[in-house]
Amino acid sequence: MKPKKVFAMNSQHYIGLDLGGTDLKFVLINEDLKIIDKGRQPSHGDGSRDKIIDGMISAVQHLRRNNPGCQINSIGIGTPGSVHLPTGSTMGVNPNMPNWNDVPVRDLMQNALNIPVVVDNDANLMALGEQKMGAGIGVKNAIGITLGTGVGGGIIIDDRLFRGAGYFGGEIGHIQIEHNGRKCGCGAYGCLETYASATGIVRSVEEFLEKYEDPKLKKAFEKEGFSVKELFALARNNNAAAQTVVETSVRYLGAGLGSLINVFNPERIIIGGGVSKAGSFFLDKIRTVIGDYTMPVILAKCEIVLAILGNDAGMLGAAILAKDWENYLNHF
Ligand SMILES: [Zn+2]
Repeated sequence: MKPKKVFAMNSQHYIGLDLGGTDLKFVLINEDLKIIDKGRQPSHGDGSRDKIIDGMISAVQHLRRNNPGCQINSIGIGTPGSVHLPTGSTMGVNPNMPNWNDVPVRDLMQNALNIPVVVDNDANLMALGEQKMGAGIGVKNAIGITLGTGVGGGIIIDDRLFRGAGYFGGEIGHIQIEHNGRKCGCGAYGCLETYASATGIVRSVEEFLEKYEDPKLKKAFEKEGFSVKELFALARNNNAAAQTVVETSVRYLGAGLGSLINVFNPERIIIGGGVSKAGSFFLDKIRTVIGDYTMPVILAKCEIVLAILGNDAGMLGAAILAKDWENYLNHF
């Protein structure tokens, strides 16, 4: 009798790269979305364009060497900033990666490796990763939001990432929640990012302390390395000042998420990133306020959950995009 799966060695495989300012994460998956191999190395994000590209090439070569039986069909790359999807080039300014503007990433990688390459924004791919392999499995309309130093996200409509006419769409961090609000790095005022990111929440603590006295919160705030983690810890320990700031931040987030829920009618909102590490404490608060910012009939069909893939979401989303790329090509 012949052994089954005699061609398994040659089945189709996809590589996902998640390029960040500090790290490059990489993964090899098969067509059943099973992780075959993965790794991480410094990305040299503040280095030259060639140094960043060389790092990504060496990550691919490492995966190929380690897995000689795997045929690599295509490679997906997630990068910070906006990407011109049809050409796979980065667009615009990127403060953490000064030499990474207007780089033809797809062409540079394809020419070096002779494998089809597709490039997209990293936040989009985190949302895609969670939708296909994480907290959104089986859901076709989902919104992924990442609350970290900034606020990023991706919108998935009918099982596909939404991008907009110029591929800049899905900038969840830059929906306006305060018409006369804080100035944002994007140039606008009152963006969600300026209130609901870790940076925005820490700024809210500062503004609170300018107006009100609270020795405990003040002491924590003045300590080196103060972050939302300490704020949440104080709030959990019934510090009223910390609770007020958390409550205000959650309401800003609620207003932003509520607008998204009303517009897109998603089945699931998936919340990830550093701020979400407060877990159920944070999630329960969002669930408590969200009804004040949504239509009940739409909210009734929407679950709000925490992301489950952590730092792996971006590279997995990149590999999934590589796998699904032919479906996307029909839309250009
Ligand atoms: Zn903005």
